[in-house]
Amino acid sequence: MSISVKTFPSANEAAQALSADRTARFLGGGTLIMRAVNEGDQSFSTIIRANDPVFTQIQPQGDRIVIGAGLTMSQILASRELEFLHAAARVVGGPAIRNMATVGGNLFAAHPYGDLATFLLAVDANVSVAGGSGGRETPLAEFLRDRDREPRPVVLSVTVTRPQHGALRFKKVSRVKPKGISMMTIAANLPQQSGRVTGARIAYGSMGPVPMRIAAVEQALEGKSLDEAGIAQAVGAATAGLEPPTDAIASSWYRREVAPVHLKRLLLERQGI
Ligand SMILES: Cc1cc2nc3c(=O)[nH]c(=O)nc-3n(C[C@H](O)[C@H](O)[C@H](O)COP(=O)(O)OP(=O)(O)OC[C@H]3O[C@@H](n4cnc5c(N)ncnc54)[C@H](O)[C@@H]3O)c2cc1C
Repeated sequence: MSISVKTFPSANEAAQALSADRTARFLGGGTLIMRAVNEGDQSFSTIIRANDPVFTQIQPQGDRIVIGAGLTMSQILASRELEFLHAAARVVGGPAIRNMATVGGNLFAAHPYGDLATFLLAVDANVSVAGGSGGRETPLAEFLRDRDREPRPVVLSVTVTRPQHGALRFKKVSRVKPKGISMMTIAANLPQQSGRVTGARIAYGSMGPVPMRIAAVEQALEGKSLDEAGIAQAVGAATAGLEPPTDAIASSWYRREVAPVHLKRLLLERQGI
């Protein structure tokens, strides 16, 4: 089957074209979509691109920062403004993948991918899409829950509030170093006041169909200190209500067994990002 490629000057035009054609897919960096083309995926026959500069903006707005969906992992790594995202951008594939892989594409990457998306959940990212919703921002957790619904949106950017210095921790557990895929990814945002955690955010990747926040762990950390006694309840809740997937990397059982160990190690790390 032949594939037609349509390029638009603006994100809104691309969004219109995408919503009008169920056989169309938007092209980010193409690391997944072009692989699908090469593998003979018949589920789409049109690729839509946009040259809109909005996709590659990095726009500080007070304590918030707007991050264009077309920025690649390498561009993130080259940006001082986005230094707090470096730990996550650095673990996405190898150098060739990072030169192409975009922020927007990572939000749609199926299990076991989505390392950056996991990190973005922990910094309360909101997603802006082109077209109808008039600049409305959707919390990333909500966006991920609905992401596979048709018609698909074109993501313009994600906006995050700058995290407290040293509050972030991130760990990608994989079996092949340095660029294996994730057995489990954990991102933690642990702001503290007077030595007590306030407003904890904990997100897991590869532990469900999409990256997700782990409310039971977040609640168990509230008001606690980050020591063995303070985190015990949170570690006990590490997999509460979760049904991790079984795949070629690990079984569901194994993921459940090791998740509390990795969470505990991360929470007890002395130095954050
Ligand atoms: C060898 C290899 C290793 C990899 N390793 C990792 C890894 O370690 N960690 C990881 O997280 N991922 C990994 N990936 C997956 C992938 O490279 C990344 O998730 C990447 O961020 C996807 O972005 P992309 O721009 O290449 O997406 P594309 O391939 O362009 O698109 C992927 C999906 O996202 C949609 N999309 C892209 N941009 C937008 C947008 N702005 N708006 C709406 N929809 C959009 C596309 O329509 C498509 O459905 C790997 C992939 C490969 C091939």
